[in-house]
Amino acid sequence: MSDQHEPVPFLDLAGVNGALRAEFERAYSEVLGHGRFINGPEVGRFEAEYAEYCQARAAVGVGNGTDALELILAGLGIGPGDEVIVPANTFIATAEAVLYVGARPRFVDVLPDTLLLDPDAADAAVNKNTAAIIGVHLFGQMVDTDRLLEVTRKHSLAFIEDAAQAHGARFAGQRAGSVGVAAGFSFYPGKNLGALGDGGAVVTQDAELAAKIRRLADHGRSADSRFHHDLRGRNSRLDSVQAAALSLKLPGLDQGNAGRVRAWEQYVNELPPTVRPVTRHPKAEAVYHVAVVEVDERDKVCTALDEAGIGWGLHYKTPCHLDSAYSEFKESLPVAEAAADRILSLPMSPTLTERQVSRVCEVLRSVTA
Ligand SMILES: *Cc1c(COP(=O)(O)O)cnc(C)c1O
Repeated sequence: MSDQHEPVPFLDLAGVNGALRAEFERAYSEVLGHGRFINGPEVGRFEAEYAEYCQARAAVGVGNGTDALELILAGLGIGPGDEVIVPANTFIATAEAVLYVGARPRFVDVLPDTLLLDPDAADAAVNKNTAAIIGVHLFGQMVDTDRLLEVTRKHSLAFIEDAAQAHGARFAGQRAGSVGVAAGFSFYPGKNLGALGDGGAVVTQDAELAAKIRRLADHGRSADSRFHHDLRGRNSRLDSVQAAALSLKLPGLDQGNAGRVRAWEQYVNELPPTVRPVTRHPKAEAVYHVAVVEVDERDKVCTALDEAGIGWGLHYKTPCHLDSAYSEFKESLPVAEAAADRILSLPMSPTLTERQVSRVCEVLRSVTA
């Protein structure tokens, strides 16, 4: 096959998981053997490993990343009457979590260079009902936690991290998940650390909050007696098979992230000037969950990528405050709105090769010249 026409998938999930196939099968067979599909020993083991990886006290495995955020809010007692600041440019799940505990999302604008939550806009949006700010570490880059912590301290708000796209990322040397009151991680298969199905975790330095969230996620079961429920909880648990798979994948996370960084740096060097990569804050060590650039004639570019067999995505086509289910929150957030028409996510995988990145850049050069 000529490398001129090599297709480039948006994310090579088979490549990511294929190398561990035999180990996954052994782990599944072990769980099948002991039969503790829920709350098996694999779960506690992964929780301890992941907390340590994140430089945090505790991790609580939950059903998915959206539940992780919802359970953090519930664990902090945030609900009806409260407002929670979220960026307009994020996956819709960030806002869903706020609505599901009965609070109101307050959408704020993002910075034009990183497209991450603007700390000054967050500061300006605080009112007497504000209970928390969710800083979303979007695209694999952590928000400016120095500035956001100043804002949350000034107003006595909780700083919650949405770290669903940032496993292993750092800001000023500190890992995602170690900075806020708590962080929500997703292990959706396509995330930097992905399970073989849905999964998520709450990561926190606060052991008491972790214990409460663990109980909330397990029907509010009493810590002293499994036959009593002294909290009104729900069901959201990481299962043993997913935990086992995550333990097998965690040791390869840093290497996978390094592959993403290499690919991103090559994009930055080889992209034509008409394709502008989002910027990295000097203190941020990003893990490039997705490779986001801005282009002017996006439809034309996407058609050319389709014709060349190159995968692409949009993160995100519609800012949350303009999405149809969220019309009551409609307002003007100009940076996020302008970016939504220009952003484009290029192929990104831990296994993306130099040749594949060159091929993508070549097609982009030919279409935007
Ligand atoms: C994936 C994602 C979530 C939700 O995670 P799920 O596991 O899919 O529920 C939340 N926030 C962001 C920014 C995400 O990318």
